[in-house]
Amino acid sequence: MNVLARVAAGRLAAARAVIPCLWRGQYFSSGKEPAEDNSVTPMLRHLIYKIKSTGPITVAEYMREVLTNPAKGYYVTRDMLGEKGDFITSPEISQIFGELLGIWFISEWIATGKNAAFQLVELGPGRGTLSGDILRVFSQLGSVLKNCDISIHLVEVSQKLSEIQALTLTEEKVPLEREAGSPVYMKGVTKSGIPISWYRDLQDVPKGYSFYLAHEFFDVLPVHKFQCDETRDHVEVCPDAGVIIQELAQRISLTGGAALIADYGHDGTKTDTFRGFCGHQLHDVLIAPGTADLTADVDFSYLRRMSQGKVASLGPISQQTFLRNMGIDVRLKILLDKSDEPSLREQLLQGYRMLMNPEKMGERFNFFALVPHQRLHGRHHQMNACQSKPSPSPVAGFGELVWR
Ligand code: SAH
Repeated sequence: MNVLARVAAGRLAAARAVIPCLWRGQYFSSGKEPAEDNSVTPMLRHLIYKIKSTGPITVAEYMREVLTNPAKGYYVTRDMLGEKGDFITSPEISQIFGELLGIWFISEWIATGKNAAFQLVELGPGRGTLSGDILRVFSQLGSVLKNCDISIHLVEVSQKLSEIQALTLTEEKVPLEREAGSPVYMKGVTKSGIPISWYRDLQDVPKGYSFYLAHEFFDVLPVHKFQCDETRDHVEVCPDAGVIIQELAQRISLTGGAALIADYGHDGTKTDTFRGFCGHQLHDVLIAPGTADLTADVDFSYLRRMSQGKVASLGPISQQTFLRNMGIDVRLKILLDKSDEPSLREQLLQGYRMLMNPEKMGERFNFFALVPHQRLHGRHHQMNACQSKPSPSPVAGFGELVWR
């Protein structure tokens, strides 16, 4: 586990713990939340106009318009993350989260033969905090990654958030190249000198050996709602998630790499999960559209089906299990030992509890991965004659991290 000690020099001051905030995995929609704000928003006016001119819209279309309409969408126009926003996410709570994910990618890169180059592709990067923490690990493990040609690719529809990501991640002195109409709408260099590019669509990211990351991304993609079919009386289906998974599976099967997906969700069991958040409160999805986040739990069984056997899938497993397998306890101890400021120690501990406690984010959030079939066909994963059970997964997080 000495790898965790080697990233220990990480900026302790970067510990972020904005604790008394709401995380989006917390509640299911009852559909009965009281209306708090019924003001006529620009988005509501737009929707009324649209419905009057072209007729009724589906739930999915409503969700897409409200969240990502290029002019007025909730994600396009604001920074909704953190204490002053509408909800909080794991990377914003603790630096440890991103650090362990950084180690996951390096561990997969080593396990699959240390390719001469890789792309790190993040879908929906929010404020860029997660990529920033991962890049810090890459820098600190520079001796391991030396001679590996790394590039960063962010898939983001929000102009506002892409500006914040650029501030978080790029070197101020190197001006960003911008080309609004191009599939690569922004380009620059990270603080550690790695090329970084922005896209609106995964399709535009160059193909090639890549690690894909999606944290709290799939839950904001539009869902269709159906009632009265199969064994559940109500199901939510997210075709956009299916399209993205198919693209990821296709890419990974052809060029290698892996995808790590973390979100709140279920394995094909839940029914009505569509809900809204505003100012850390649950919010009626139909009230003041455009001012609140809309989300639905991710159906991991659907993601697995949509990978269509092109790649192997792992999980979903709980965030608590994944982070424990990745060595969160060792990492916490190292950071606590290094800090003598009581407030910082308390922040680290609070962040840890928030990420790990089953009643907080530990159980509701899940990790799911797509890897090439060959990745699981090594000797580690075979059942041998003396064993009654298969060996634990050779993929870190889904089994214990073994640093070679
Ligand atoms: N991953 C971040 C942010 C999660 S919020 C975190 O965990 O903190 C969802 C993110 O997805 C935002 O950055 C939002 O702008 C982006 N997003 C939403 N819909 C998208 C779409 N269709 N394509 C690309 N990005 C999208």
